[in-house]
Amino acid sequence: MSRKKDKPRILEQVLVEDYAAEGKSLSRVDGKVIFIEGAVPGDVVDVRLGKSKKDWAEGKVSRIHTFSADRTAPFCSHFGICGGCKWQMLPYKKQLEHKQNEVEQNLRRLGRIPLPSIMPIIGCDKTERYRNKLEFTFSNRRYKTGEEMQLHPLAEQPPSDPALGFHVPRLFDKVIDITTCHLMEEPVNLIKNTIREFSIQQSYPFYDIRQHTGWLRNLIVRISTTGEVMVNICLAYEEKTEREKLLHHLLKQVPSITTLLYTINNKKNDSLFDLLPQTYYGPGYITERLEDLQFKISPKSFFQTNTRQAEKLYQVTRNFCELTGNETVYDLYCGTGSIGIFTSRQAKKVIGVELIPEAIADAEENARINNIRHTAFFTGDVIDICRDNFFEQNGNPDVIITDPPRAGMHEKLVRKILEIQAPLVVYVSCNSATQARDLQLLYEKYEVTQVQPVDMFPHTHHIENVVQLKRRSLPDTGF
Ligand code: SAH
Repeated sequence: MSRKKDKPRILEQVLVEDYAAEGKSLSRVDGKVIFIEGAVPGDVVDVRLGKSKKDWAEGKVSRIHTFSADRTAPFCSHFGICGGCKWQMLPYKKQLEHKQNEVEQNLRRLGRIPLPSIMPIIGCDKTERYRNKLEFTFSNRRYKTGEEMQLHPLAEQPPSDPALGFHVPRLFDKVIDITTCHLMEEPVNLIKNTIREFSIQQSYPFYDIRQHTGWLRNLIVRISTTGEVMVNICLAYEEKTEREKLLHHLLKQVPSITTLLYTINNKKNDSLFDLLPQTYYGPGYITERLEDLQFKISPKSFFQTNTRQAEKLYQVTRNFCELTGNETVYDLYCGTGSIGIFTSRQAKKVIGVELIPEAIADAEENARINNIRHTAFFTGDVIDICRDNFFEQNGNPDVIITDPPRAGMHEKLVRKILEIQAPLVVYVSCNSATQARDLQLLYEKYEVTQVQPVDMFPHTHHIENVVQLKRRSLPDTGF
């Protein structure tokens, strides 16, 4: 039962019916579909409405009346406020069921092409402490819960209230003070809490994102499966004596740090790409391993954030390539070349294409470290690089691997693949909706022969999906 109250912004006692896309659930109220954040099918909840259109509306749970039998107790004390692991209230098995279903629905409804049966999703063995990289923000505006605000009205609150943690979703200037994050192995929490305590004790100013004042800005921690630990502290300006004091203290408290860097960032935004991290201690990078291959990770390098699952994702991708050792493989959107390098031992040659020059430099370095000489990497937009003469110069592709960002492939690239007609295409995607759209276009010449979803991010709605496509045999022309 549901009814609208006098105050139209709250829907009361809504029975949540089903899962929807992007980690939301849905319900139908008076003929309108309501997309709900923070609920699970089977819950009965009050919903605070946000955007509302004729046929649908969006809202957030404001109160739970009845808990769904599907629910489990969240393991993190920051759950409900932090946007990081939104699905903790669902047992992992249920999360996987839903992800499998989402891939099926997207490919069938949006793709509308014949499909083989979709293989059961490959889940993670480790559902906590699975990330190899986390970025925390320093802020002088700590997020406070409604209860805290009632206990200490605004007038009584200190002008600066330091926090080190994650941004609150949709509140750009508020940061949740995270004590324990379960997404990464230790010493991540020890590092974070040591820096926070020391900085408060020393009265170091935490950054004010509205005024662009303060000293401490970001903290990036990366831990490899080989046990190496890289820490990069971003500061708004150089303050040598205090910086050395802070870094020295951190190293003393956390001796397992293998590389300690700092980066001066006096820009308004937080992005690192145009900044120069400085090494204070250690070699300035860490090394990650996938099977027996090594990958150098510099402070600005991209690397899949769940190493163990990246290995599985790449194994699926390599299997789908059906390599015998004689193939020319193109790795489009190759990033730091990891998929191409991973498949290279079974191929005659691997050609990588990627937009970001630093990623290509890492790809070349990674090939060199692993003594792989039959790869070549090219910097540029895939649609500018992948022209006829590029394929003429580098060899006709036997296999094309494509791993585009969430927006999927540019239509021009899809057209080019249809024109080039490699016998086999392997499409790795982090968004099965855009993948479905591209598969529909590719269906003109390719049929989908295998589909394998892989979960890389437990407790979130994100899902990777690998699809194998084979060139369809052309109709018999009678000649
Ligand atoms: N295959 C890699 C990275 C995939 S992420 C891995 O597994 O690690 C997608 C990559 O596509 C990013 O590195 C991004 O920089 C790159 N990219 C985005 N748009 C691009 C374009 N138009 N042309 C080439 N590369 C692009």
